[in-house]
Amino acid sequence: MSAIGAQDLSALIQAMAERVAAEREALNRLDAALGDGDHGTSISTAFAVAVEEIEALEQPSLNAIWLATAKALMNRMGGASGAIFGTFFLKGVATLRDADRLHKDAMGALLAAGLEGVKARGKAGVGDKTMVDALAPAVAAFGAADEFASAWRAAAAAARTGAESTRDQVARQGRAKFLGERAIGQQDPGATTIALMFEASHLWWKENKQ
Ligand code: ADP
Ligand code: MG
Repeated sequence: MSAIGAQDLSALIQAMAERVAAEREALNRLDAALGDGDHGTSISTAFAVAVEEIEALEQPSLNAIWLATAKALMNRMGGASGAIFGTFFLKGVATLRDADRLHKDAMGALLAAGLEGVKARGKAGVGDKTMVDALAPAVAAFGAADEFASAWRAAAAAARTGAESTRDQVARQGRAKFLGERAIGQQDPGATTIALMFEASHLWWKENKQ
């Protein structure tokens, strides 16, 4: 049965980091329409720091890797959204304990714990035009699949559909909430980042584990 080990998990974070870095300017443009225009720069800088911190770990266990990512996002993104993106990783750490391999259900539990943390911290639900619109359906799709390959594929597709659904929404959280109806027609940058993270994971799985 396939599983994710520590080397795989660092490669997965690296794949996410590369994908958000490639989309940095596009994410900044989305945030310029709805917020202050910094999302691509802050998320890609924070992910680059996460990759460096992971490389510097003396004992790169699964939980050390996930924790290093949480800390990098919390400390390097700054602001409310840094805390929210960081919380996604931080809340998963406890589910890992001292495991050295993750099977599909454990990965699903890790993602689900992260989603719960994000909802508790940011108080956004589906339909509020935030990253939750991509994350909630992605985590549900991952959980409903019965093995890794189909789980990543379904989660990536659900995250993309969820991110696109934010275009028609008025924001009830985050800076975009001050725009009212003027937010309609613009896709949420944080939800787009979540779609990129799951698409990167899906591609990485296909290229390296299948
Ligand atoms: P900031 O708004 O501090 O400049 P970013 O631009 O990096 O932060 O990130 C903005 C993204 O954060 C939004 O697109 C949205 O997806 C996400 N976000 C904002 N507020 C919340 C919240 N309360 N819950 C969940 N996600 C949120
Ligand atoms: Mg911003």
